[in-house]
Amino acid sequence: MMKSILTLCALMALLLTVSIQYPLHQHAKYQRTKLTAPVPHHSKHIILVVIDSLMDTPLQEAIKQERAPALQFLIKHGQYFPNVVSSFPTMSVTIDSSLLTGTYPDRHRVPGLVWYDENEGRIINYGNGKREIVKLGVKPVLQDSLYKLNNEHLSQHVKTLHEELAADGKQSASINVVVYRGNFPHQLNLPKTAAFLNILPENLKTYGPAWFSYGSLSYVNPNNQKNYIWQKYGFNDKFSSEELKYLIQSGKLPPFTIVYFPDNDHSVHKNGPMDIKGIEQADRQIQEIFGTYNSWESAIKNAVWIVMGDSGQASIGGSRKESFIRLPSLLSLYRITKLRERVQKEDQILLCVNERMAYIYSLDKYVPLARIAGHLQKDDRIDVIAWKEGEIIHVIEGGKEGVLSFRPGGQYVDPYQQRWSLQGKLSILDISTKGNQMTYHDYPDALARLYGALHSHPGRYLVVTARPGFELVGESSPTHLNGGGHGSLHKQDSLVPMLVTGTDSSPKHLRIVDIKDWILKMD
Ligand SMILES: [Zn+2]
Repeated sequence: MMKSILTLCALMALLLTVSIQYPLHQHAKYQRTKLTAPVPHHSKHIILVVIDSLMDTPLQEAIKQERAPALQFLIKHGQYFPNVVSSFPTMSVTIDSSLLTGTYPDRHRVPGLVWYDENEGRIINYGNGKREIVKLGVKPVLQDSLYKLNNEHLSQHVKTLHEELAADGKQSASINVVVYRGNFPHQLNLPKTAAFLNILPENLKTYGPAWFSYGSLSYVNPNNQKNYIWQKYGFNDKFSSEELKYLIQSGKLPPFTIVYFPDNDHSVHKNGPMDIKGIEQADRQIQEIFGTYNSWESAIKNAVWIVMGDSGQASIGGSRKESFIRLPSLLSLYRITKLRERVQKEDQILLCVNERMAYIYSLDKYVPLARIAGHLQKDDRIDVIAWKEGEIIHVIEGGKEGVLSFRPGGQYVDPYQQRWSLQGKLSILDISTKGNQMTYHDYPDALARLYGALHSHPGRYLVVTARPGFELVGESSPTHLNGGGHGSLHKQDSLVPMLVTGTDSSPKHLRIVDIKDWILKMD
């Protein structure tokens, strides 16, 4: 029994974090004759491909080395935007929620991969590293990621792209995207062991768009049934493309499809931001998808293709001592919640680390946020340290003096037509002003994104990020020595490329929160 629990832990951890690198040995399971998808005359299908951690520089390099012919083809025949601003924290669950709802986490309410729910008095973790999962318990992590994320945490006050399209009488598809809420009930088929061990019911009901793929837990292509642990239960690029190919070949492709390619993220985490292997593999899958049409030209004639990243990654140095900012040591003055022990009455501080970003909570009313901020400021590897005081947000930075304070509304206008009141040292967020006009540099859309994270959930907390080259480390958070990491507000984590083929239109602003409206208006 013990062994099977451990196996299941490992298995579920894999299912969720998909963090271990297994070679993919999937073979094409079936051959089909080439079909061209039927195209209604009034509008084209829209296919949005999200390649996790796709970045401009390695993409350009991959193209130069002729290792990304499909992406090169799309750029050649369409528009290329190298710098689209992601959400914040730059973690997939928050970004996907922003992409689908067109809002930052102050409205969609998915604060990050790891955060603290003060109403329930527990850490919410959607699957961040095996060690953390085992300490927090497999059951709550599975319930949070497989059920609560979409059905409870994602705010009911915002509508997803799938919900808006359905209200417009248009069907849509979601393939391997972790945030997918829609109007149609679906069953998640969980491994029988999970039900046997009373971790989750064998069938879990959730709501997604009409066409819904979620690894081997839910799939549209009957040939995609067998996806094993070493294939990350279908949470891989190959599965994603097989699902999309099935929709195209069977003539079921709805007006809008979003498909997620997860593998590049693992490759970049391991090999660093200049990794090209992951892009090459994703490109190969896009070639496969194009292969379901008569020609690549016919693929772009019959659909609008949008290919984009979700976040960038910054490189993490190679010294355990230097590259990792160990928050428990920096704050050792305080009693910090131990993951296994849950929150205790005497605890003063709780850490929720999201790679290069962390939420740091003060659980003790006698420990002001400004004091914790002061401790963190002493470390020059720390970048942004921000917290709320009433309506005002204060921002300081590691290793330097000075404070920047801001709040929404006021005389300054940023490039997204948002108005702000600003006071203090603007260089902390690398903001410049000319008259009333503001410009962002190293921290794109910094004010709205910081505001979003600081209003994403109740509680007294700081938002902290690491400078490029460094990673924040909690009690058991995963680390990426000599590799890449994301989560921060910095442009290295925050800017993603976007390829658009089949339409001349573009979003109102080049931000992930502006994609939803653009797609809804597209004809
Ligand atoms: Zn990642």
